[in-house]
Amino acid sequence: MLPVAASKPIPRVILFLFSLIIIPILIAFNFSRHPLGLLFIFYLANAVTLFFLLNQNSKARYQIESEIQDTQEKLNIIQADILKEQKSNSALLVKRVRYDSLKNIIEQINQNLDLEYISNSIVSVTFSLISEAKGACFLYLIDKQTHKLSLFKTKKERESLIIKAKEGDMFDTWMLRHVTPLLIEDVGSDFRFDSEKLKVQDARPISSLISAPFINENNFVGILRLDNPNKDFYTQDDLRFLVSVCDLGAVALESSQLFLKTQELSIRDSLTLAYTKRYLMDRLAQECERSACVANAAFSLLMLDIDFFKNYNDKFGHSAGDIVLKKITKNIIVFLNDLDRVVCRFGGEEFCVILENTDKKKAVEIATQLCGMIEKDKVVLRRVEVAITVSIGVAAFPDDDTKADGLIYKADKAMYEAKRKGRNQVCSI
Ligand code: GH3
Ligand code: MG
Ligand code: MG
Repeated sequence: MLPVAASKPIPRVILFLFSLIIIPILIAFNFSRHPLGLLFIFYLANAVTLFFLLNQNSKARYQIESEIQDTQEKLNIIQADILKEQKSNSALLVKRVRYDSLKNIIEQINQNLDLEYISNSIVSVTFSLISEAKGACFLYLIDKQTHKLSLFKTKKERESLIIKAKEGDMFDTWMLRHVTPLLIEDVGSDFRFDSEKLKVQDARPISSLISAPFINENNFVGILRLDNPNKDFYTQDDLRFLVSVCDLGAVALESSQLFLKTQELSIRDSLTLAYTKRYLMDRLAQECERSACVANAAFSLLMLDIDFFKNYNDKFGHSAGDIVLKKITKNIIVFLNDLDRVVCRFGGEEFCVILENTDKKKAVEIATQLCGMIEKDKVVLRRVEVAITVSIGVAAFPDDDTKADGLIYKADKAMYEAKRKGRNQVCSI
């Protein structure tokens, strides 16, 4: 804004006083006393006229200058309005770009059921559009059984940034409790949170944060959160956009989770939750193919059958037999936990295990230990303590066969050999 100064004209009242009072007095005195008085009066009258004309001129100038000042003020107001308009236009443009990108992503993810793809798209679009790839973005999913959060996807400004709070920190716990969007402009001065506690939970600096829940038909699906080491990094507009991402992404996220669960269940045996025979055959074929391309690759297959299982059914009932099946599955899974293995219920009371990167000698060793462990871990059936035993046959790639069917045949044959030799033992061909 440019201020304009205008010089004021001499007030009229002074001129009137001068012409109406001073001049007649002077005429009266000077004309009577001195002959040059008339001349003096003449010059004085001229001077007054000149003075009057100059004053008129200065008045006109003053008016023009005032008008210029008014116009300048109006111009300044218009310029300020234009600036405001430009700002709001560019903000609208940013919003449009954001919502257009979101619309495209949501259309894509709604046609997809891959949890990995969906979560990755959500985190990527949020991180780039809201934070411009600054700070960090997290997607937590909730475990429906334990009601605990688990960090599922992360995007970080610096890849070296270590995230300690895999089950969420105090902000995520707050979200879990309140289930409402959260904006923190300055963590240090927000009375709801203890910033000292945060330092213990996570070593990385957090000064501002926005977070929103994924809710689908009253189901809490997870949390989407952005944080930054600088204060006041996020605005209410950013939070509104985050809420839109969560509202639109929640359905896709939950559908993909359900799909994954259904897929997982379809390859699991409903009683023992071990993999099905069909899944094992696929994995075995893949393993044969993969190992055929790798020099000195080896893996083994265990065929395991419960000894005299029919007797438990006959003596304690079919449901007691089911307990035995579940117990044996759990024992196998827990015992082989540290190994790369695939445990499957091959049918009835028979189990199959693929031991990856394990040669025949090592597999026989492991199978023998497993056999001993199962025998020692007694089961109580109708208040009777029973020692269950198993017979195990071992076959290995490439020693016994390089094809899935061949390996199954050899492991089965070895298992029958163990039965023939008296059960509760391991055999290989
Ligand atoms: P062996 O030592 O020779 O293997 O004797 P076995 O009694 O274990 O073998 P057999 O094949 O004679 O019996 C297997 C039994 O497993 C027969 C069947 O009723 C039972 N069985 C198969 N599937 C299930 C199941 O899901 N639950 C229960 N409880 N029993 C099952
Ligand atoms: Mg059998
Ligand atoms: Mg049996």
